[in-house]
Amino acid sequence: MTFSPPLPHVIKGKRENLDNGVYVLHDIESAHRISDHAGNARKAVVVGAGPIGLEIAVALRTKGLDVVVVEMLSFAMPRALDKDMAKLVEQPLEASGIKLIFNKSVMSINGSPVNSVSVDDEIIETDMVILASGVRANIEIARNAGIEHGNWGIRTNAGMETKIKGIYAAGDCIETVSLINHRPTMMQLSSPAYRQGMVAGTNAAGGYDIYEGALGTFVTVLGKLEKVQKKN
Ligand SMILES: Cc1cc2nc3c(=O)[nH]c(=O)nc-3n(C[C@H](O)[C@H](O)[C@H](O)COP(=O)(O)OP(=O)(O)OC[C@H]3O[C@@H](n4cnc5c(N)ncnc54)[C@H](O)[C@@H]3O)c2cc1C
Repeated sequence: MTFSPPLPHVIKGKRENLDNGVYVLHDIESAHRISDHAGNARKAVVVGAGPIGLEIAVALRTKGLDVVVVEMLSFAMPRALDKDMAKLVEQPLEASGIKLIFNKSVMSINGSPVNSVSVDDEIIETDMVILASGVRANIEIARNAGIEHGNWGIRTNAGMETKIKGIYAAGDCIETVSLINHRPTMMQLSSPAYRQGMVAGTNAAGGYDIYEGALGTFVTVLGKLEKVQKKN
């Protein structure tokens, strides 16, 4: 399937409550903040059914919270799976008690402290909200330097050099190429970032290396889902 950059969508009430009922997962510290808040919460809403949102949903459900995941597209992990494959992910999540809502967007986060979210025409009560709706790199610094960028991020050649000689870019901030359909895409994973960084460093230091593009392979563990069922 092809995938276009999602349109920017501003959720009302998110900034006011950031780190105080509304969380993004960036690093270990933000994971601790989420875990601390969850210790005193009964209900959580996760925005986004990508791998990160679903892993958080499972973790919160394991802690005993009532968890609702709201996804604006029509199935789980829409950047990685087709709809029929997504069913294999959705069924065990739902069986574990996680509620999945598709084709709807969180429009606002209400209350301070947070007490609900508005999802299109519905109000869902909650004690906390986790935003896992994807990230876009802030490439302002490159833009200001006149460095070319596409819809997904900073453009480079296969040697990871931007249009400006001697300036290289790698990792989450760049637009790369999908090795599946050969279209520009973003691939915010550590293995491509590492490989791109190696290529950029080699070339910047006078060597020669190229990065041809990314497949986007990743592994996720959602509860017991990754376990292979052994047959007698
Ligand atoms: C919750 C979460 C889970 C993830 N799980 C996985 C996973 O399981 N597998 C996987 O492959 N990938 C995973 N990723 C993605 C992976 O972390 C990123 O793709 C990878 O870290 C990208 O590397 P990077 O060097 O481009 O960016 P980063 O690791 O974000 O490093 C960029 C650094 O630049 C610094 N910086 C930014 N602007 C400036 C500036 N102007 N001046 C100086 N410093 C600056 C930042 O502070 C940061 O330290 C996950 C990401 C998140 C958020």
